[in-house]
Amino acid sequence: MEDNNKFYDMTWTDITGVPFPYDWYKNSFDLHHYTMSAQALDFYQQSLETQYLPPNKLKEYINKRFVKLVRHAYKTSAYYKALYDEHKIDVNKIDIDLIEKLPFAEKKGLTVHSQVDQDSKVFSDDKLLVRTSGSTGYRMQFYCDKEQLNWRWALWMRLFHWGGYEWGNKEMRFWYKFASTVKKPKTEAIDAFLSNRNFLPFDTLDNNELKDFCNKIVEKDPFLITGYWEAIESILKYAYENNVCLNIKSILPSTQVVPPSARNLFSKHFNLDILDKYASAEHSGIAHQCEVGDLYHVQSENVFVEVVANNKSVDNGLGEVVVTDLNNLTTPLIRYRVGDVVEASDRVCGCNRTLPTIAKPHGRLINTIKVESKLTTELELADLEFNLRMQRIADRIEIVQNSEDDVVVFAGGVNDKKKLTKLVSDCLNYQVKDVQVKTDINHFRGKRHRGKTHLTNIFNNS
Ligand SMILES: [Zn+2]
Repeated sequence: MEDNNKFYDMTWTDITGVPFPYDWYKNSFDLHHYTMSAQALDFYQQSLETQYLPPNKLKEYINKRFVKLVRHAYKTSAYYKALYDEHKIDVNKIDIDLIEKLPFAEKKGLTVHSQVDQDSKVFSDDKLLVRTSGSTGYRMQFYCDKEQLNWRWALWMRLFHWGGYEWGNKEMRFWYKFASTVKKPKTEAIDAFLSNRNFLPFDTLDNNELKDFCNKIVEKDPFLITGYWEAIESILKYAYENNVCLNIKSILPSTQVVPPSARNLFSKHFNLDILDKYASAEHSGIAHQCEVGDLYHVQSENVFVEVVANNKSVDNGLGEVVVTDLNNLTTPLIRYRVGDVVEASDRVCGCNRTLPTIAKPHGRLINTIKVESKLTTELELADLEFNLRMQRIADRIEIVQNSEDDVVVFAGGVNDKKKLTKLVSDCLNYQVKDVQVKTDINHFRGKRHRGKTHLTNIFNNS
């Protein structure tokens, strides 16, 4: 294992990258990747065509993978065998139209049944051990097939394409300084170099760091920016308030919800596209935001997505997202409860792609506050917090729901308590009696959970 700190000091920030020829990059793929293969680039080319498949062909494409997956899971996994036997499912009669007949797969049961040897090698030739962060309330670990990992890469590159990117354009990526996801830093540094990618590790996001980042963006002139939204939002806010001119074509944030107010303000002000990647550790890209309008397209080559409330798929409005991974046979995830809230939509996107759409992801179930029938999601709280910060009313909020009618509101950097109380009360549909000032609300380093609820199963699914 390489020394991470040494790597960051010596290489991470030094690499600026070059526009390396695409064919050379493909032919040398195994030298700069350790979990994927050059097949990823073929999948990427395919994905540029499959996004326009006629609806019946797309359905056929999905159904073929789905039927194979369900039968394979029943045959090879003790968990699915027991689950489907218990529900009297005949897997030979299941197709994509009958998906709702299958019971949900739960993280807890899957982890117990797919006992992964903790001491085994993390990397093998054809699969990778993935561990989720546990931010949905339960930590999960499982194996991922190389083919699924190749699809992850392909569909991520397709989002670059939607952002106007062409191979060789400069990318700047903002990542945590001490990212636990980096397993082979030197290999990743080589890939960054050949992909013309500049990694910038962030730490405190204070004014000094933000000023430095703005200087680097102006100096390196990237075509697009990727990385954690919390860093990107701070940089854009700093540039906006200090009149820094940023000449970027697209921003592709990931891992955290993007407040619609922030997206609108910054995309207009800087004249750029912000295309969000809705993903999970289990599947990577689930839905990617279209460059035409604001809808997200389901990444149908990789996943089948349902938005479920009261055990029924909904076409409009909020529900719990249930994802079926079409490419991972080693640890099948079929009707898997990711733990997120998603807003379904029957609006049609203005582009010609036939991939299904959702309105937007709303964050974790465990971060959703419910007062009577009014749900306030992490996305709505993030939007509220962004507006409070821009108007200098308060910096941060944290809403803790102990029971149906016991909601406690904390806030940091409070300048106007009266306005704050009113705006939070309106947002939650709950009369907040007193906002409690708290100086140590920590939203950074992934702890972006403004709502905390003890309610369970808010969408009444079983
Ligand atoms: Zn579209």
